[in-house]
Order: sequence, then structure tokens, then C-alpha cells
Amino acid sequence: MAVEEIQRAGELIASSQFAVALTGAGVSTESGLPDFRSQDGLWRQYDPSEVATLSAFYTDPHRFYAFYRHRLALLREARPNPAHYALARLEDLGKLHVVITQNVDGLHQQAGSRRVLEVHGNLREAKCTGCGRIFPISVLDPFLERAEIPTCDSCGSALKPNVVLFEEMLPEEVFEEAEASCRRCDLLLVVGSSLQVTPVAYLPHVALRHGARLILVNTEETPVDRFADVVLRGRAGVILPRLVEEVEKRLA
Ligand code: NAD
Ligand code: ZN
Repeated sequence: MAVEEIQRAGELIASSQFAVALTGAGVSTESGLPDFRSQDGLWRQYDPSEVATLSAFYTDPHRFYAFYRHRLALLREARPNPAHYALARLEDLGKLHVVITQNVDGLHQQAGSRRVLEVHGNLREAKCTGCGRIFPISVLDPFLERAEIPTCDSCGSALKPNVVLFEEMLPEEVFEEAEASCRRCDLLLVVGSSLQVTPVAYLPHVALRHGARLILVNTEETPVDRFADVVLRGRAGVILPRLVEEVEKRLA
């Protein structure tokens, strides 16, 4: 990654009036959480149709929960990395309005980001598929230790981690707010997303249609690279702290 590109990106952020970040699994790989689609991604080990869809949850809940037991164990060990802290710092500097994230790990909030829109739900909670009650995720532990399917103590229905599975709707209000932010922003910073999952994959286009600048941070190519003002190729945990330095220099 050339110095000029990072400087140019820093300039775009420093001079923006309403910047928004959109993050994906790639922002958390340096926290030890594998992403889905890249070389070391979870989909090399698991078939998403067997563990990531609503029908998989109902057809084979044991297989579904074996996958989630693995994800929850990884999450227990995970801490925010420099990429998460850099985004929190941009918000503190008044240069980032909101983080829209597809991640369910809560690491942006742990790093200090205050305005976070979790468009794919979260892994802090479990939700009853019958009565809709929300529980802390720890309610699953005793069931998973006994390799049983977790059930609701009020109505007896199965509990599901409060994440959005394929075949499920996104939380409507949260997604509407994300979309509105993308319509309004003058700069969108996309970090660590393959931009292959809709409707989130449309968000950069919403921002572009409304005249926003686009900065992409990713180790690999994405389908929107050709529309970006700056593409920063490399690891988010390395690039974002440098980007913050560039922004700070210009605000000083
Ligand atoms: P993804 O795995 O598709 O993409 C991750 C991207 O990050 C890749 O483009 C990769 O090149 C990049 N990357 C990896 N490490 C990086 C690093 N250190 N620095 C910079 N870039 C890095 O993940 P996504 O785009 O977030 O996928 C979309 C969403 O689909 C997921 O976030 C998830 O919410 C959803 N999904 C959910 C389930 C489920 O089980 N419920 C399953 C699959 C996908
Ligand atoms: Zn219930």
C-alpha cells in the first residue's frame, strides 16, 4: 500500500462532514475470529447451507449448535484489535458518525465505538423461536455442555442465537437506519467485507448514488473496488491505525 494512498484517504476522512463505516468479518480476523469466505474462512470447514440458514436450524439443530458452540468458544477468547480501536478513535475525533457492522461479535462496542448498527444481530443474546423472549447468550451454556438443544423456560420452544441467519429478515429498523446513513453520508469507509451478502452489499451503491466518496480496506479484491476513490489493500489492523494518524495530523 502506497503512502500516497493512505494520505489521500486520510485527507478524505479529515475533510468529510458525515463519514460512515461499514465493516465485515475481516475487521475481526486479527482478533482470532475467522471470516467466512477467504482462504482461512469458516466456509472451508463448514457448509453454510448446513449451519447458517434458518432451515438448517430447524432440520438439524444439533449440527447447527455444534457450529455455534465452536463460534462461541472462539468469541470468549476474542478481544478488539487495532482496527476496532482505530474506528472508535475516529468517532472520538468527530470524524465517524456510525459503524454499520455485519459482525455479531460485539468487538466494536468493546473497543469503545458508541454508535454501532448491528444489521445481522448479535451473539450476546439468544431469542426464543416461540414467544420471542430475549435471554443473555449464557442461557445456552448448560444445554450445550450436555449437547442438548436449548429451550425457553417460559414456553419450551427452541432458542436461537440472536443473529440473522440466511433466509431470515434483517432487523427492519436497524437496517433502515443503516440505509439512511448511507444516503446521507459524504464518505463511506468499507473495512473487511467481501460485499457478497445482500442487502448489505447494496449499501456502498446507495452511498455512491448519493454522491459519497468511497474508501475500501481489504486484503483481497471486492466487487466495488472499481468504484472506490481509494483502495487500501492489506490488513485492517495495520492500515486503520495509520489512517487515523493521517486524520489526526490534518485535524491538529
Ligand atoms: P466475508 O468472510 O464474506 O468477507 C470478509 C472479507 O474480509 C474478505 O473480503 C477478506 O478478504 C477480508 N479480510 C479478511 N481479513 C482481513 C483483514 N485482516 N483486513 C482486511 N480485510 C480482511 O465476511 P462478510 O463480508 O462480513 O460476510 C457477510 C456476512 O454474512 C457476515 O458478516 C455474516 O453476518 C453473514 N453471514 C452469516 C452467517 C451466519 O452463520 N449467520 C454465515 C455467513 C455469513
Ligand atoms: Zn419462549
